[in-house]
Amino acid sequence: MTQEKIWLSSPHMGGTEQKYVQEAFATNWVAPLGPNVNNFETDIERYLNQDVYVGALSSGTAALHLGLIMLDVKPGDEVICQSMTFSASANPIAYLGATPVFIDSEYDTWNMCPVALEEAIKDRMAKGKKPKAIVPVHLYGMPAKMDEISAVAKQYEIPILEDSAEALGSAYKGQKCGTFGAIAALSFNGNKIITTSGGGAMVTHTKALKDKAVFLSTQARDNAPHYQHSEIGYNYRMSNICAGIGRGQMEVLDAHVALRRANHQFYKELFAEISDVTVLTEPSSDFYSNHWLSAILLTSFEQREALRLAFEVENIETRPLWKPMHLQPVFENSPFYGATVSESLFEKGLCLPSGSNLKAAERLRIEKVIKDFFTL
Ligand SMILES: *Cc1c(COP(=O)(O)O)cnc(C)c1O
Repeated sequence: MTQEKIWLSSPHMGGTEQKYVQEAFATNWVAPLGPNVNNFETDIERYLNQDVYVGALSSGTAALHLGLIMLDVKPGDEVICQSMTFSASANPIAYLGATPVFIDSEYDTWNMCPVALEEAIKDRMAKGKKPKAIVPVHLYGMPAKMDEISAVAKQYEIPILEDSAEALGSAYKGQKCGTFGAIAALSFNGNKIITTSGGGAMVTHTKALKDKAVFLSTQARDNAPHYQHSEIGYNYRMSNICAGIGRGQMEVLDAHVALRRANHQFYKELFAEISDVTVLTEPSSDFYSNHWLSAILLTSFEQREALRLAFEVENIETRPLWKPMHLQPVFENSPFYGATVSESLFEKGLCLPSGSNLKAAERLRIEKVIKDFFTL
């Protein structure tokens, strides 16, 4: 008998989502605009608590794409991007005909190494091109070293496009992730910390930038009775149905962050006596991770694969860490700066089931696999 699948991270409804969706039907706002969209944006603005302006979009990828456009990235430009990430951090750079310049990670947070970042900027400038933007990521919810990264960005006057797709609810020195960059992207895909089934948002610091994002996301229509266009537009706005799900999800966001953090605590205690394993943990009290995914490092690629397969046999989903972009065939011609940190993390790392809906009985099944594997 195969047991029910334990997912890495699956949607977790709070209970009020359908009320907002039904409201949309009842009022016939079944469109990519309406009260749910506006209210969802206000909910996020209040949550982030930094006088930000939020535009709800169809995906996090769309937010990154429009963010790069608004930072004036053009064909032939270079954009600096964390190498260890999901491909959606880098793909929009390629959509625009620009070249990603990838940066290695550091071992504390697994995110963009500020030292390699500066080295890259100096070298690209010496080669005659100043990068147009810097895209750091808060991997698995762990905030990047934003003080150091921001200091480099400021010194060379390069704007930050913050990929906060995995980090809604995380904070660095008390400031919420998604509020550090000139522009930031959030994601509400099905596996993220909250979901709208699919969706994303752009976070900006001025109403003008938010308005620009909404304008571009609704086909860039000029103000005229007929359809008049002076710019290329996109169909990237969020649907009022999806935003209804989002409003319900915002009501349980903090509770779900607490549950994910409890999963992390569970893994920390479980692995406390297993010297082969390190759990990705906040390096200091400056960092507050939503622990979207709990991730561990093993001693070798072989050991990681063996553990992954041991989980698979028990119908438990785990996943290797993001494969660095500079090692992906599609980006093989892009420059890379740093050493082998992200490569080594990829070889030895594994993400474990981390859903806010993970049940006690499921934890027991996970615990058994781990204890058997390390024969405790
Ligand atoms: C999920 C994710 C994205 C893309 O978000 P979508 O809403 O799926 O388009 C971008 N960057 C990172 C790091 C992500 O995890």
